[in-house]
Amino acid sequence: MVESHRTEPKPLLGILGGTFDPIHLGHLRLAEEAREALGLERVLFIPAAAPPHRPQPALPALVRLELVQAAIGGNPYFVADQRELDRAGTSYTIDTVQSIHASFPAHHLVLILGMDAFNGLTQWHRWDELLDWVHLAVATRPGATVAGAAAQLLSDRQINITQMQQQSAGGIVSLEMTRLDISATAVRAKLHAGHSVRYLVPENLLNPLVAHYSDPIRR
Ligand code: ATP
Repeated sequence: MVESHRTEPKPLLGILGGTFDPIHLGHLRLAEEAREALGLERVLFIPAAAPPHRPQPALPALVRLELVQAAIGGNPYFVADQRELDRAGTSYTIDTVQSIHASFPAHHLVLILGMDAFNGLTQWHRWDELLDWVHLAVATRPGATVAGAAAQLLSDRQINITQMQQQSAGGIVSLEMTRLDISATAVRAKLHAGHSVRYLVPENLLNPLVAHYSDPIRR
């Protein structure tokens, strides 16, 4: 338990950052299961403008944001947040969580990560400061197991949901989620090959995705 962060109970706000190139049902199910399991008041979906540590996205940030908005439309618990698009330069998560902290002082923040992303956490820019601002919820993902420095961090910081509400930041909960072997990489590959992505992405995204990702200049 992380005693130094004890504070009064506050509602939890989920943060799901990603490249969302494009958003798919794995992302939506991750947000839904985290919301339900942790009692999150809302989940902010935050597309990265210029993500570090990976090739730049196939689609422009604004288009990825519009696809996120279309995918979550009608779900009152999900909100698209464009703060990384409004900021110049590389989209570092530490800057984003500090900005969200300023916007939502009455909440404790929970950064939701798949296990693959969590495994890379200790390579992130100023990663060691992140846990001063947020809790982490780390979800199972097919093909990923927690290893190395991330495994040590998980065992050092593991807390339960009640502790998460009582402490302002610094804890990690493991989330056993329905395993959906869906990735944006595989969705893009199918679109490029002219194959169907039905039932991998929301139905209302099918036509826009074919239009955006089969454009040869974007491949
Ligand atoms: P890419 O294939 O382009 O790397 P991706 O499918 O991993 O993309 P991202 O936008 O990079 O999607 O992921 C955002 C967050 O969602 C990350 O924390 C990632 O681990 C998590 N995530 C994505 N897909 C799944 C899934 N199917 N199950 C669990 N977590 C997922």
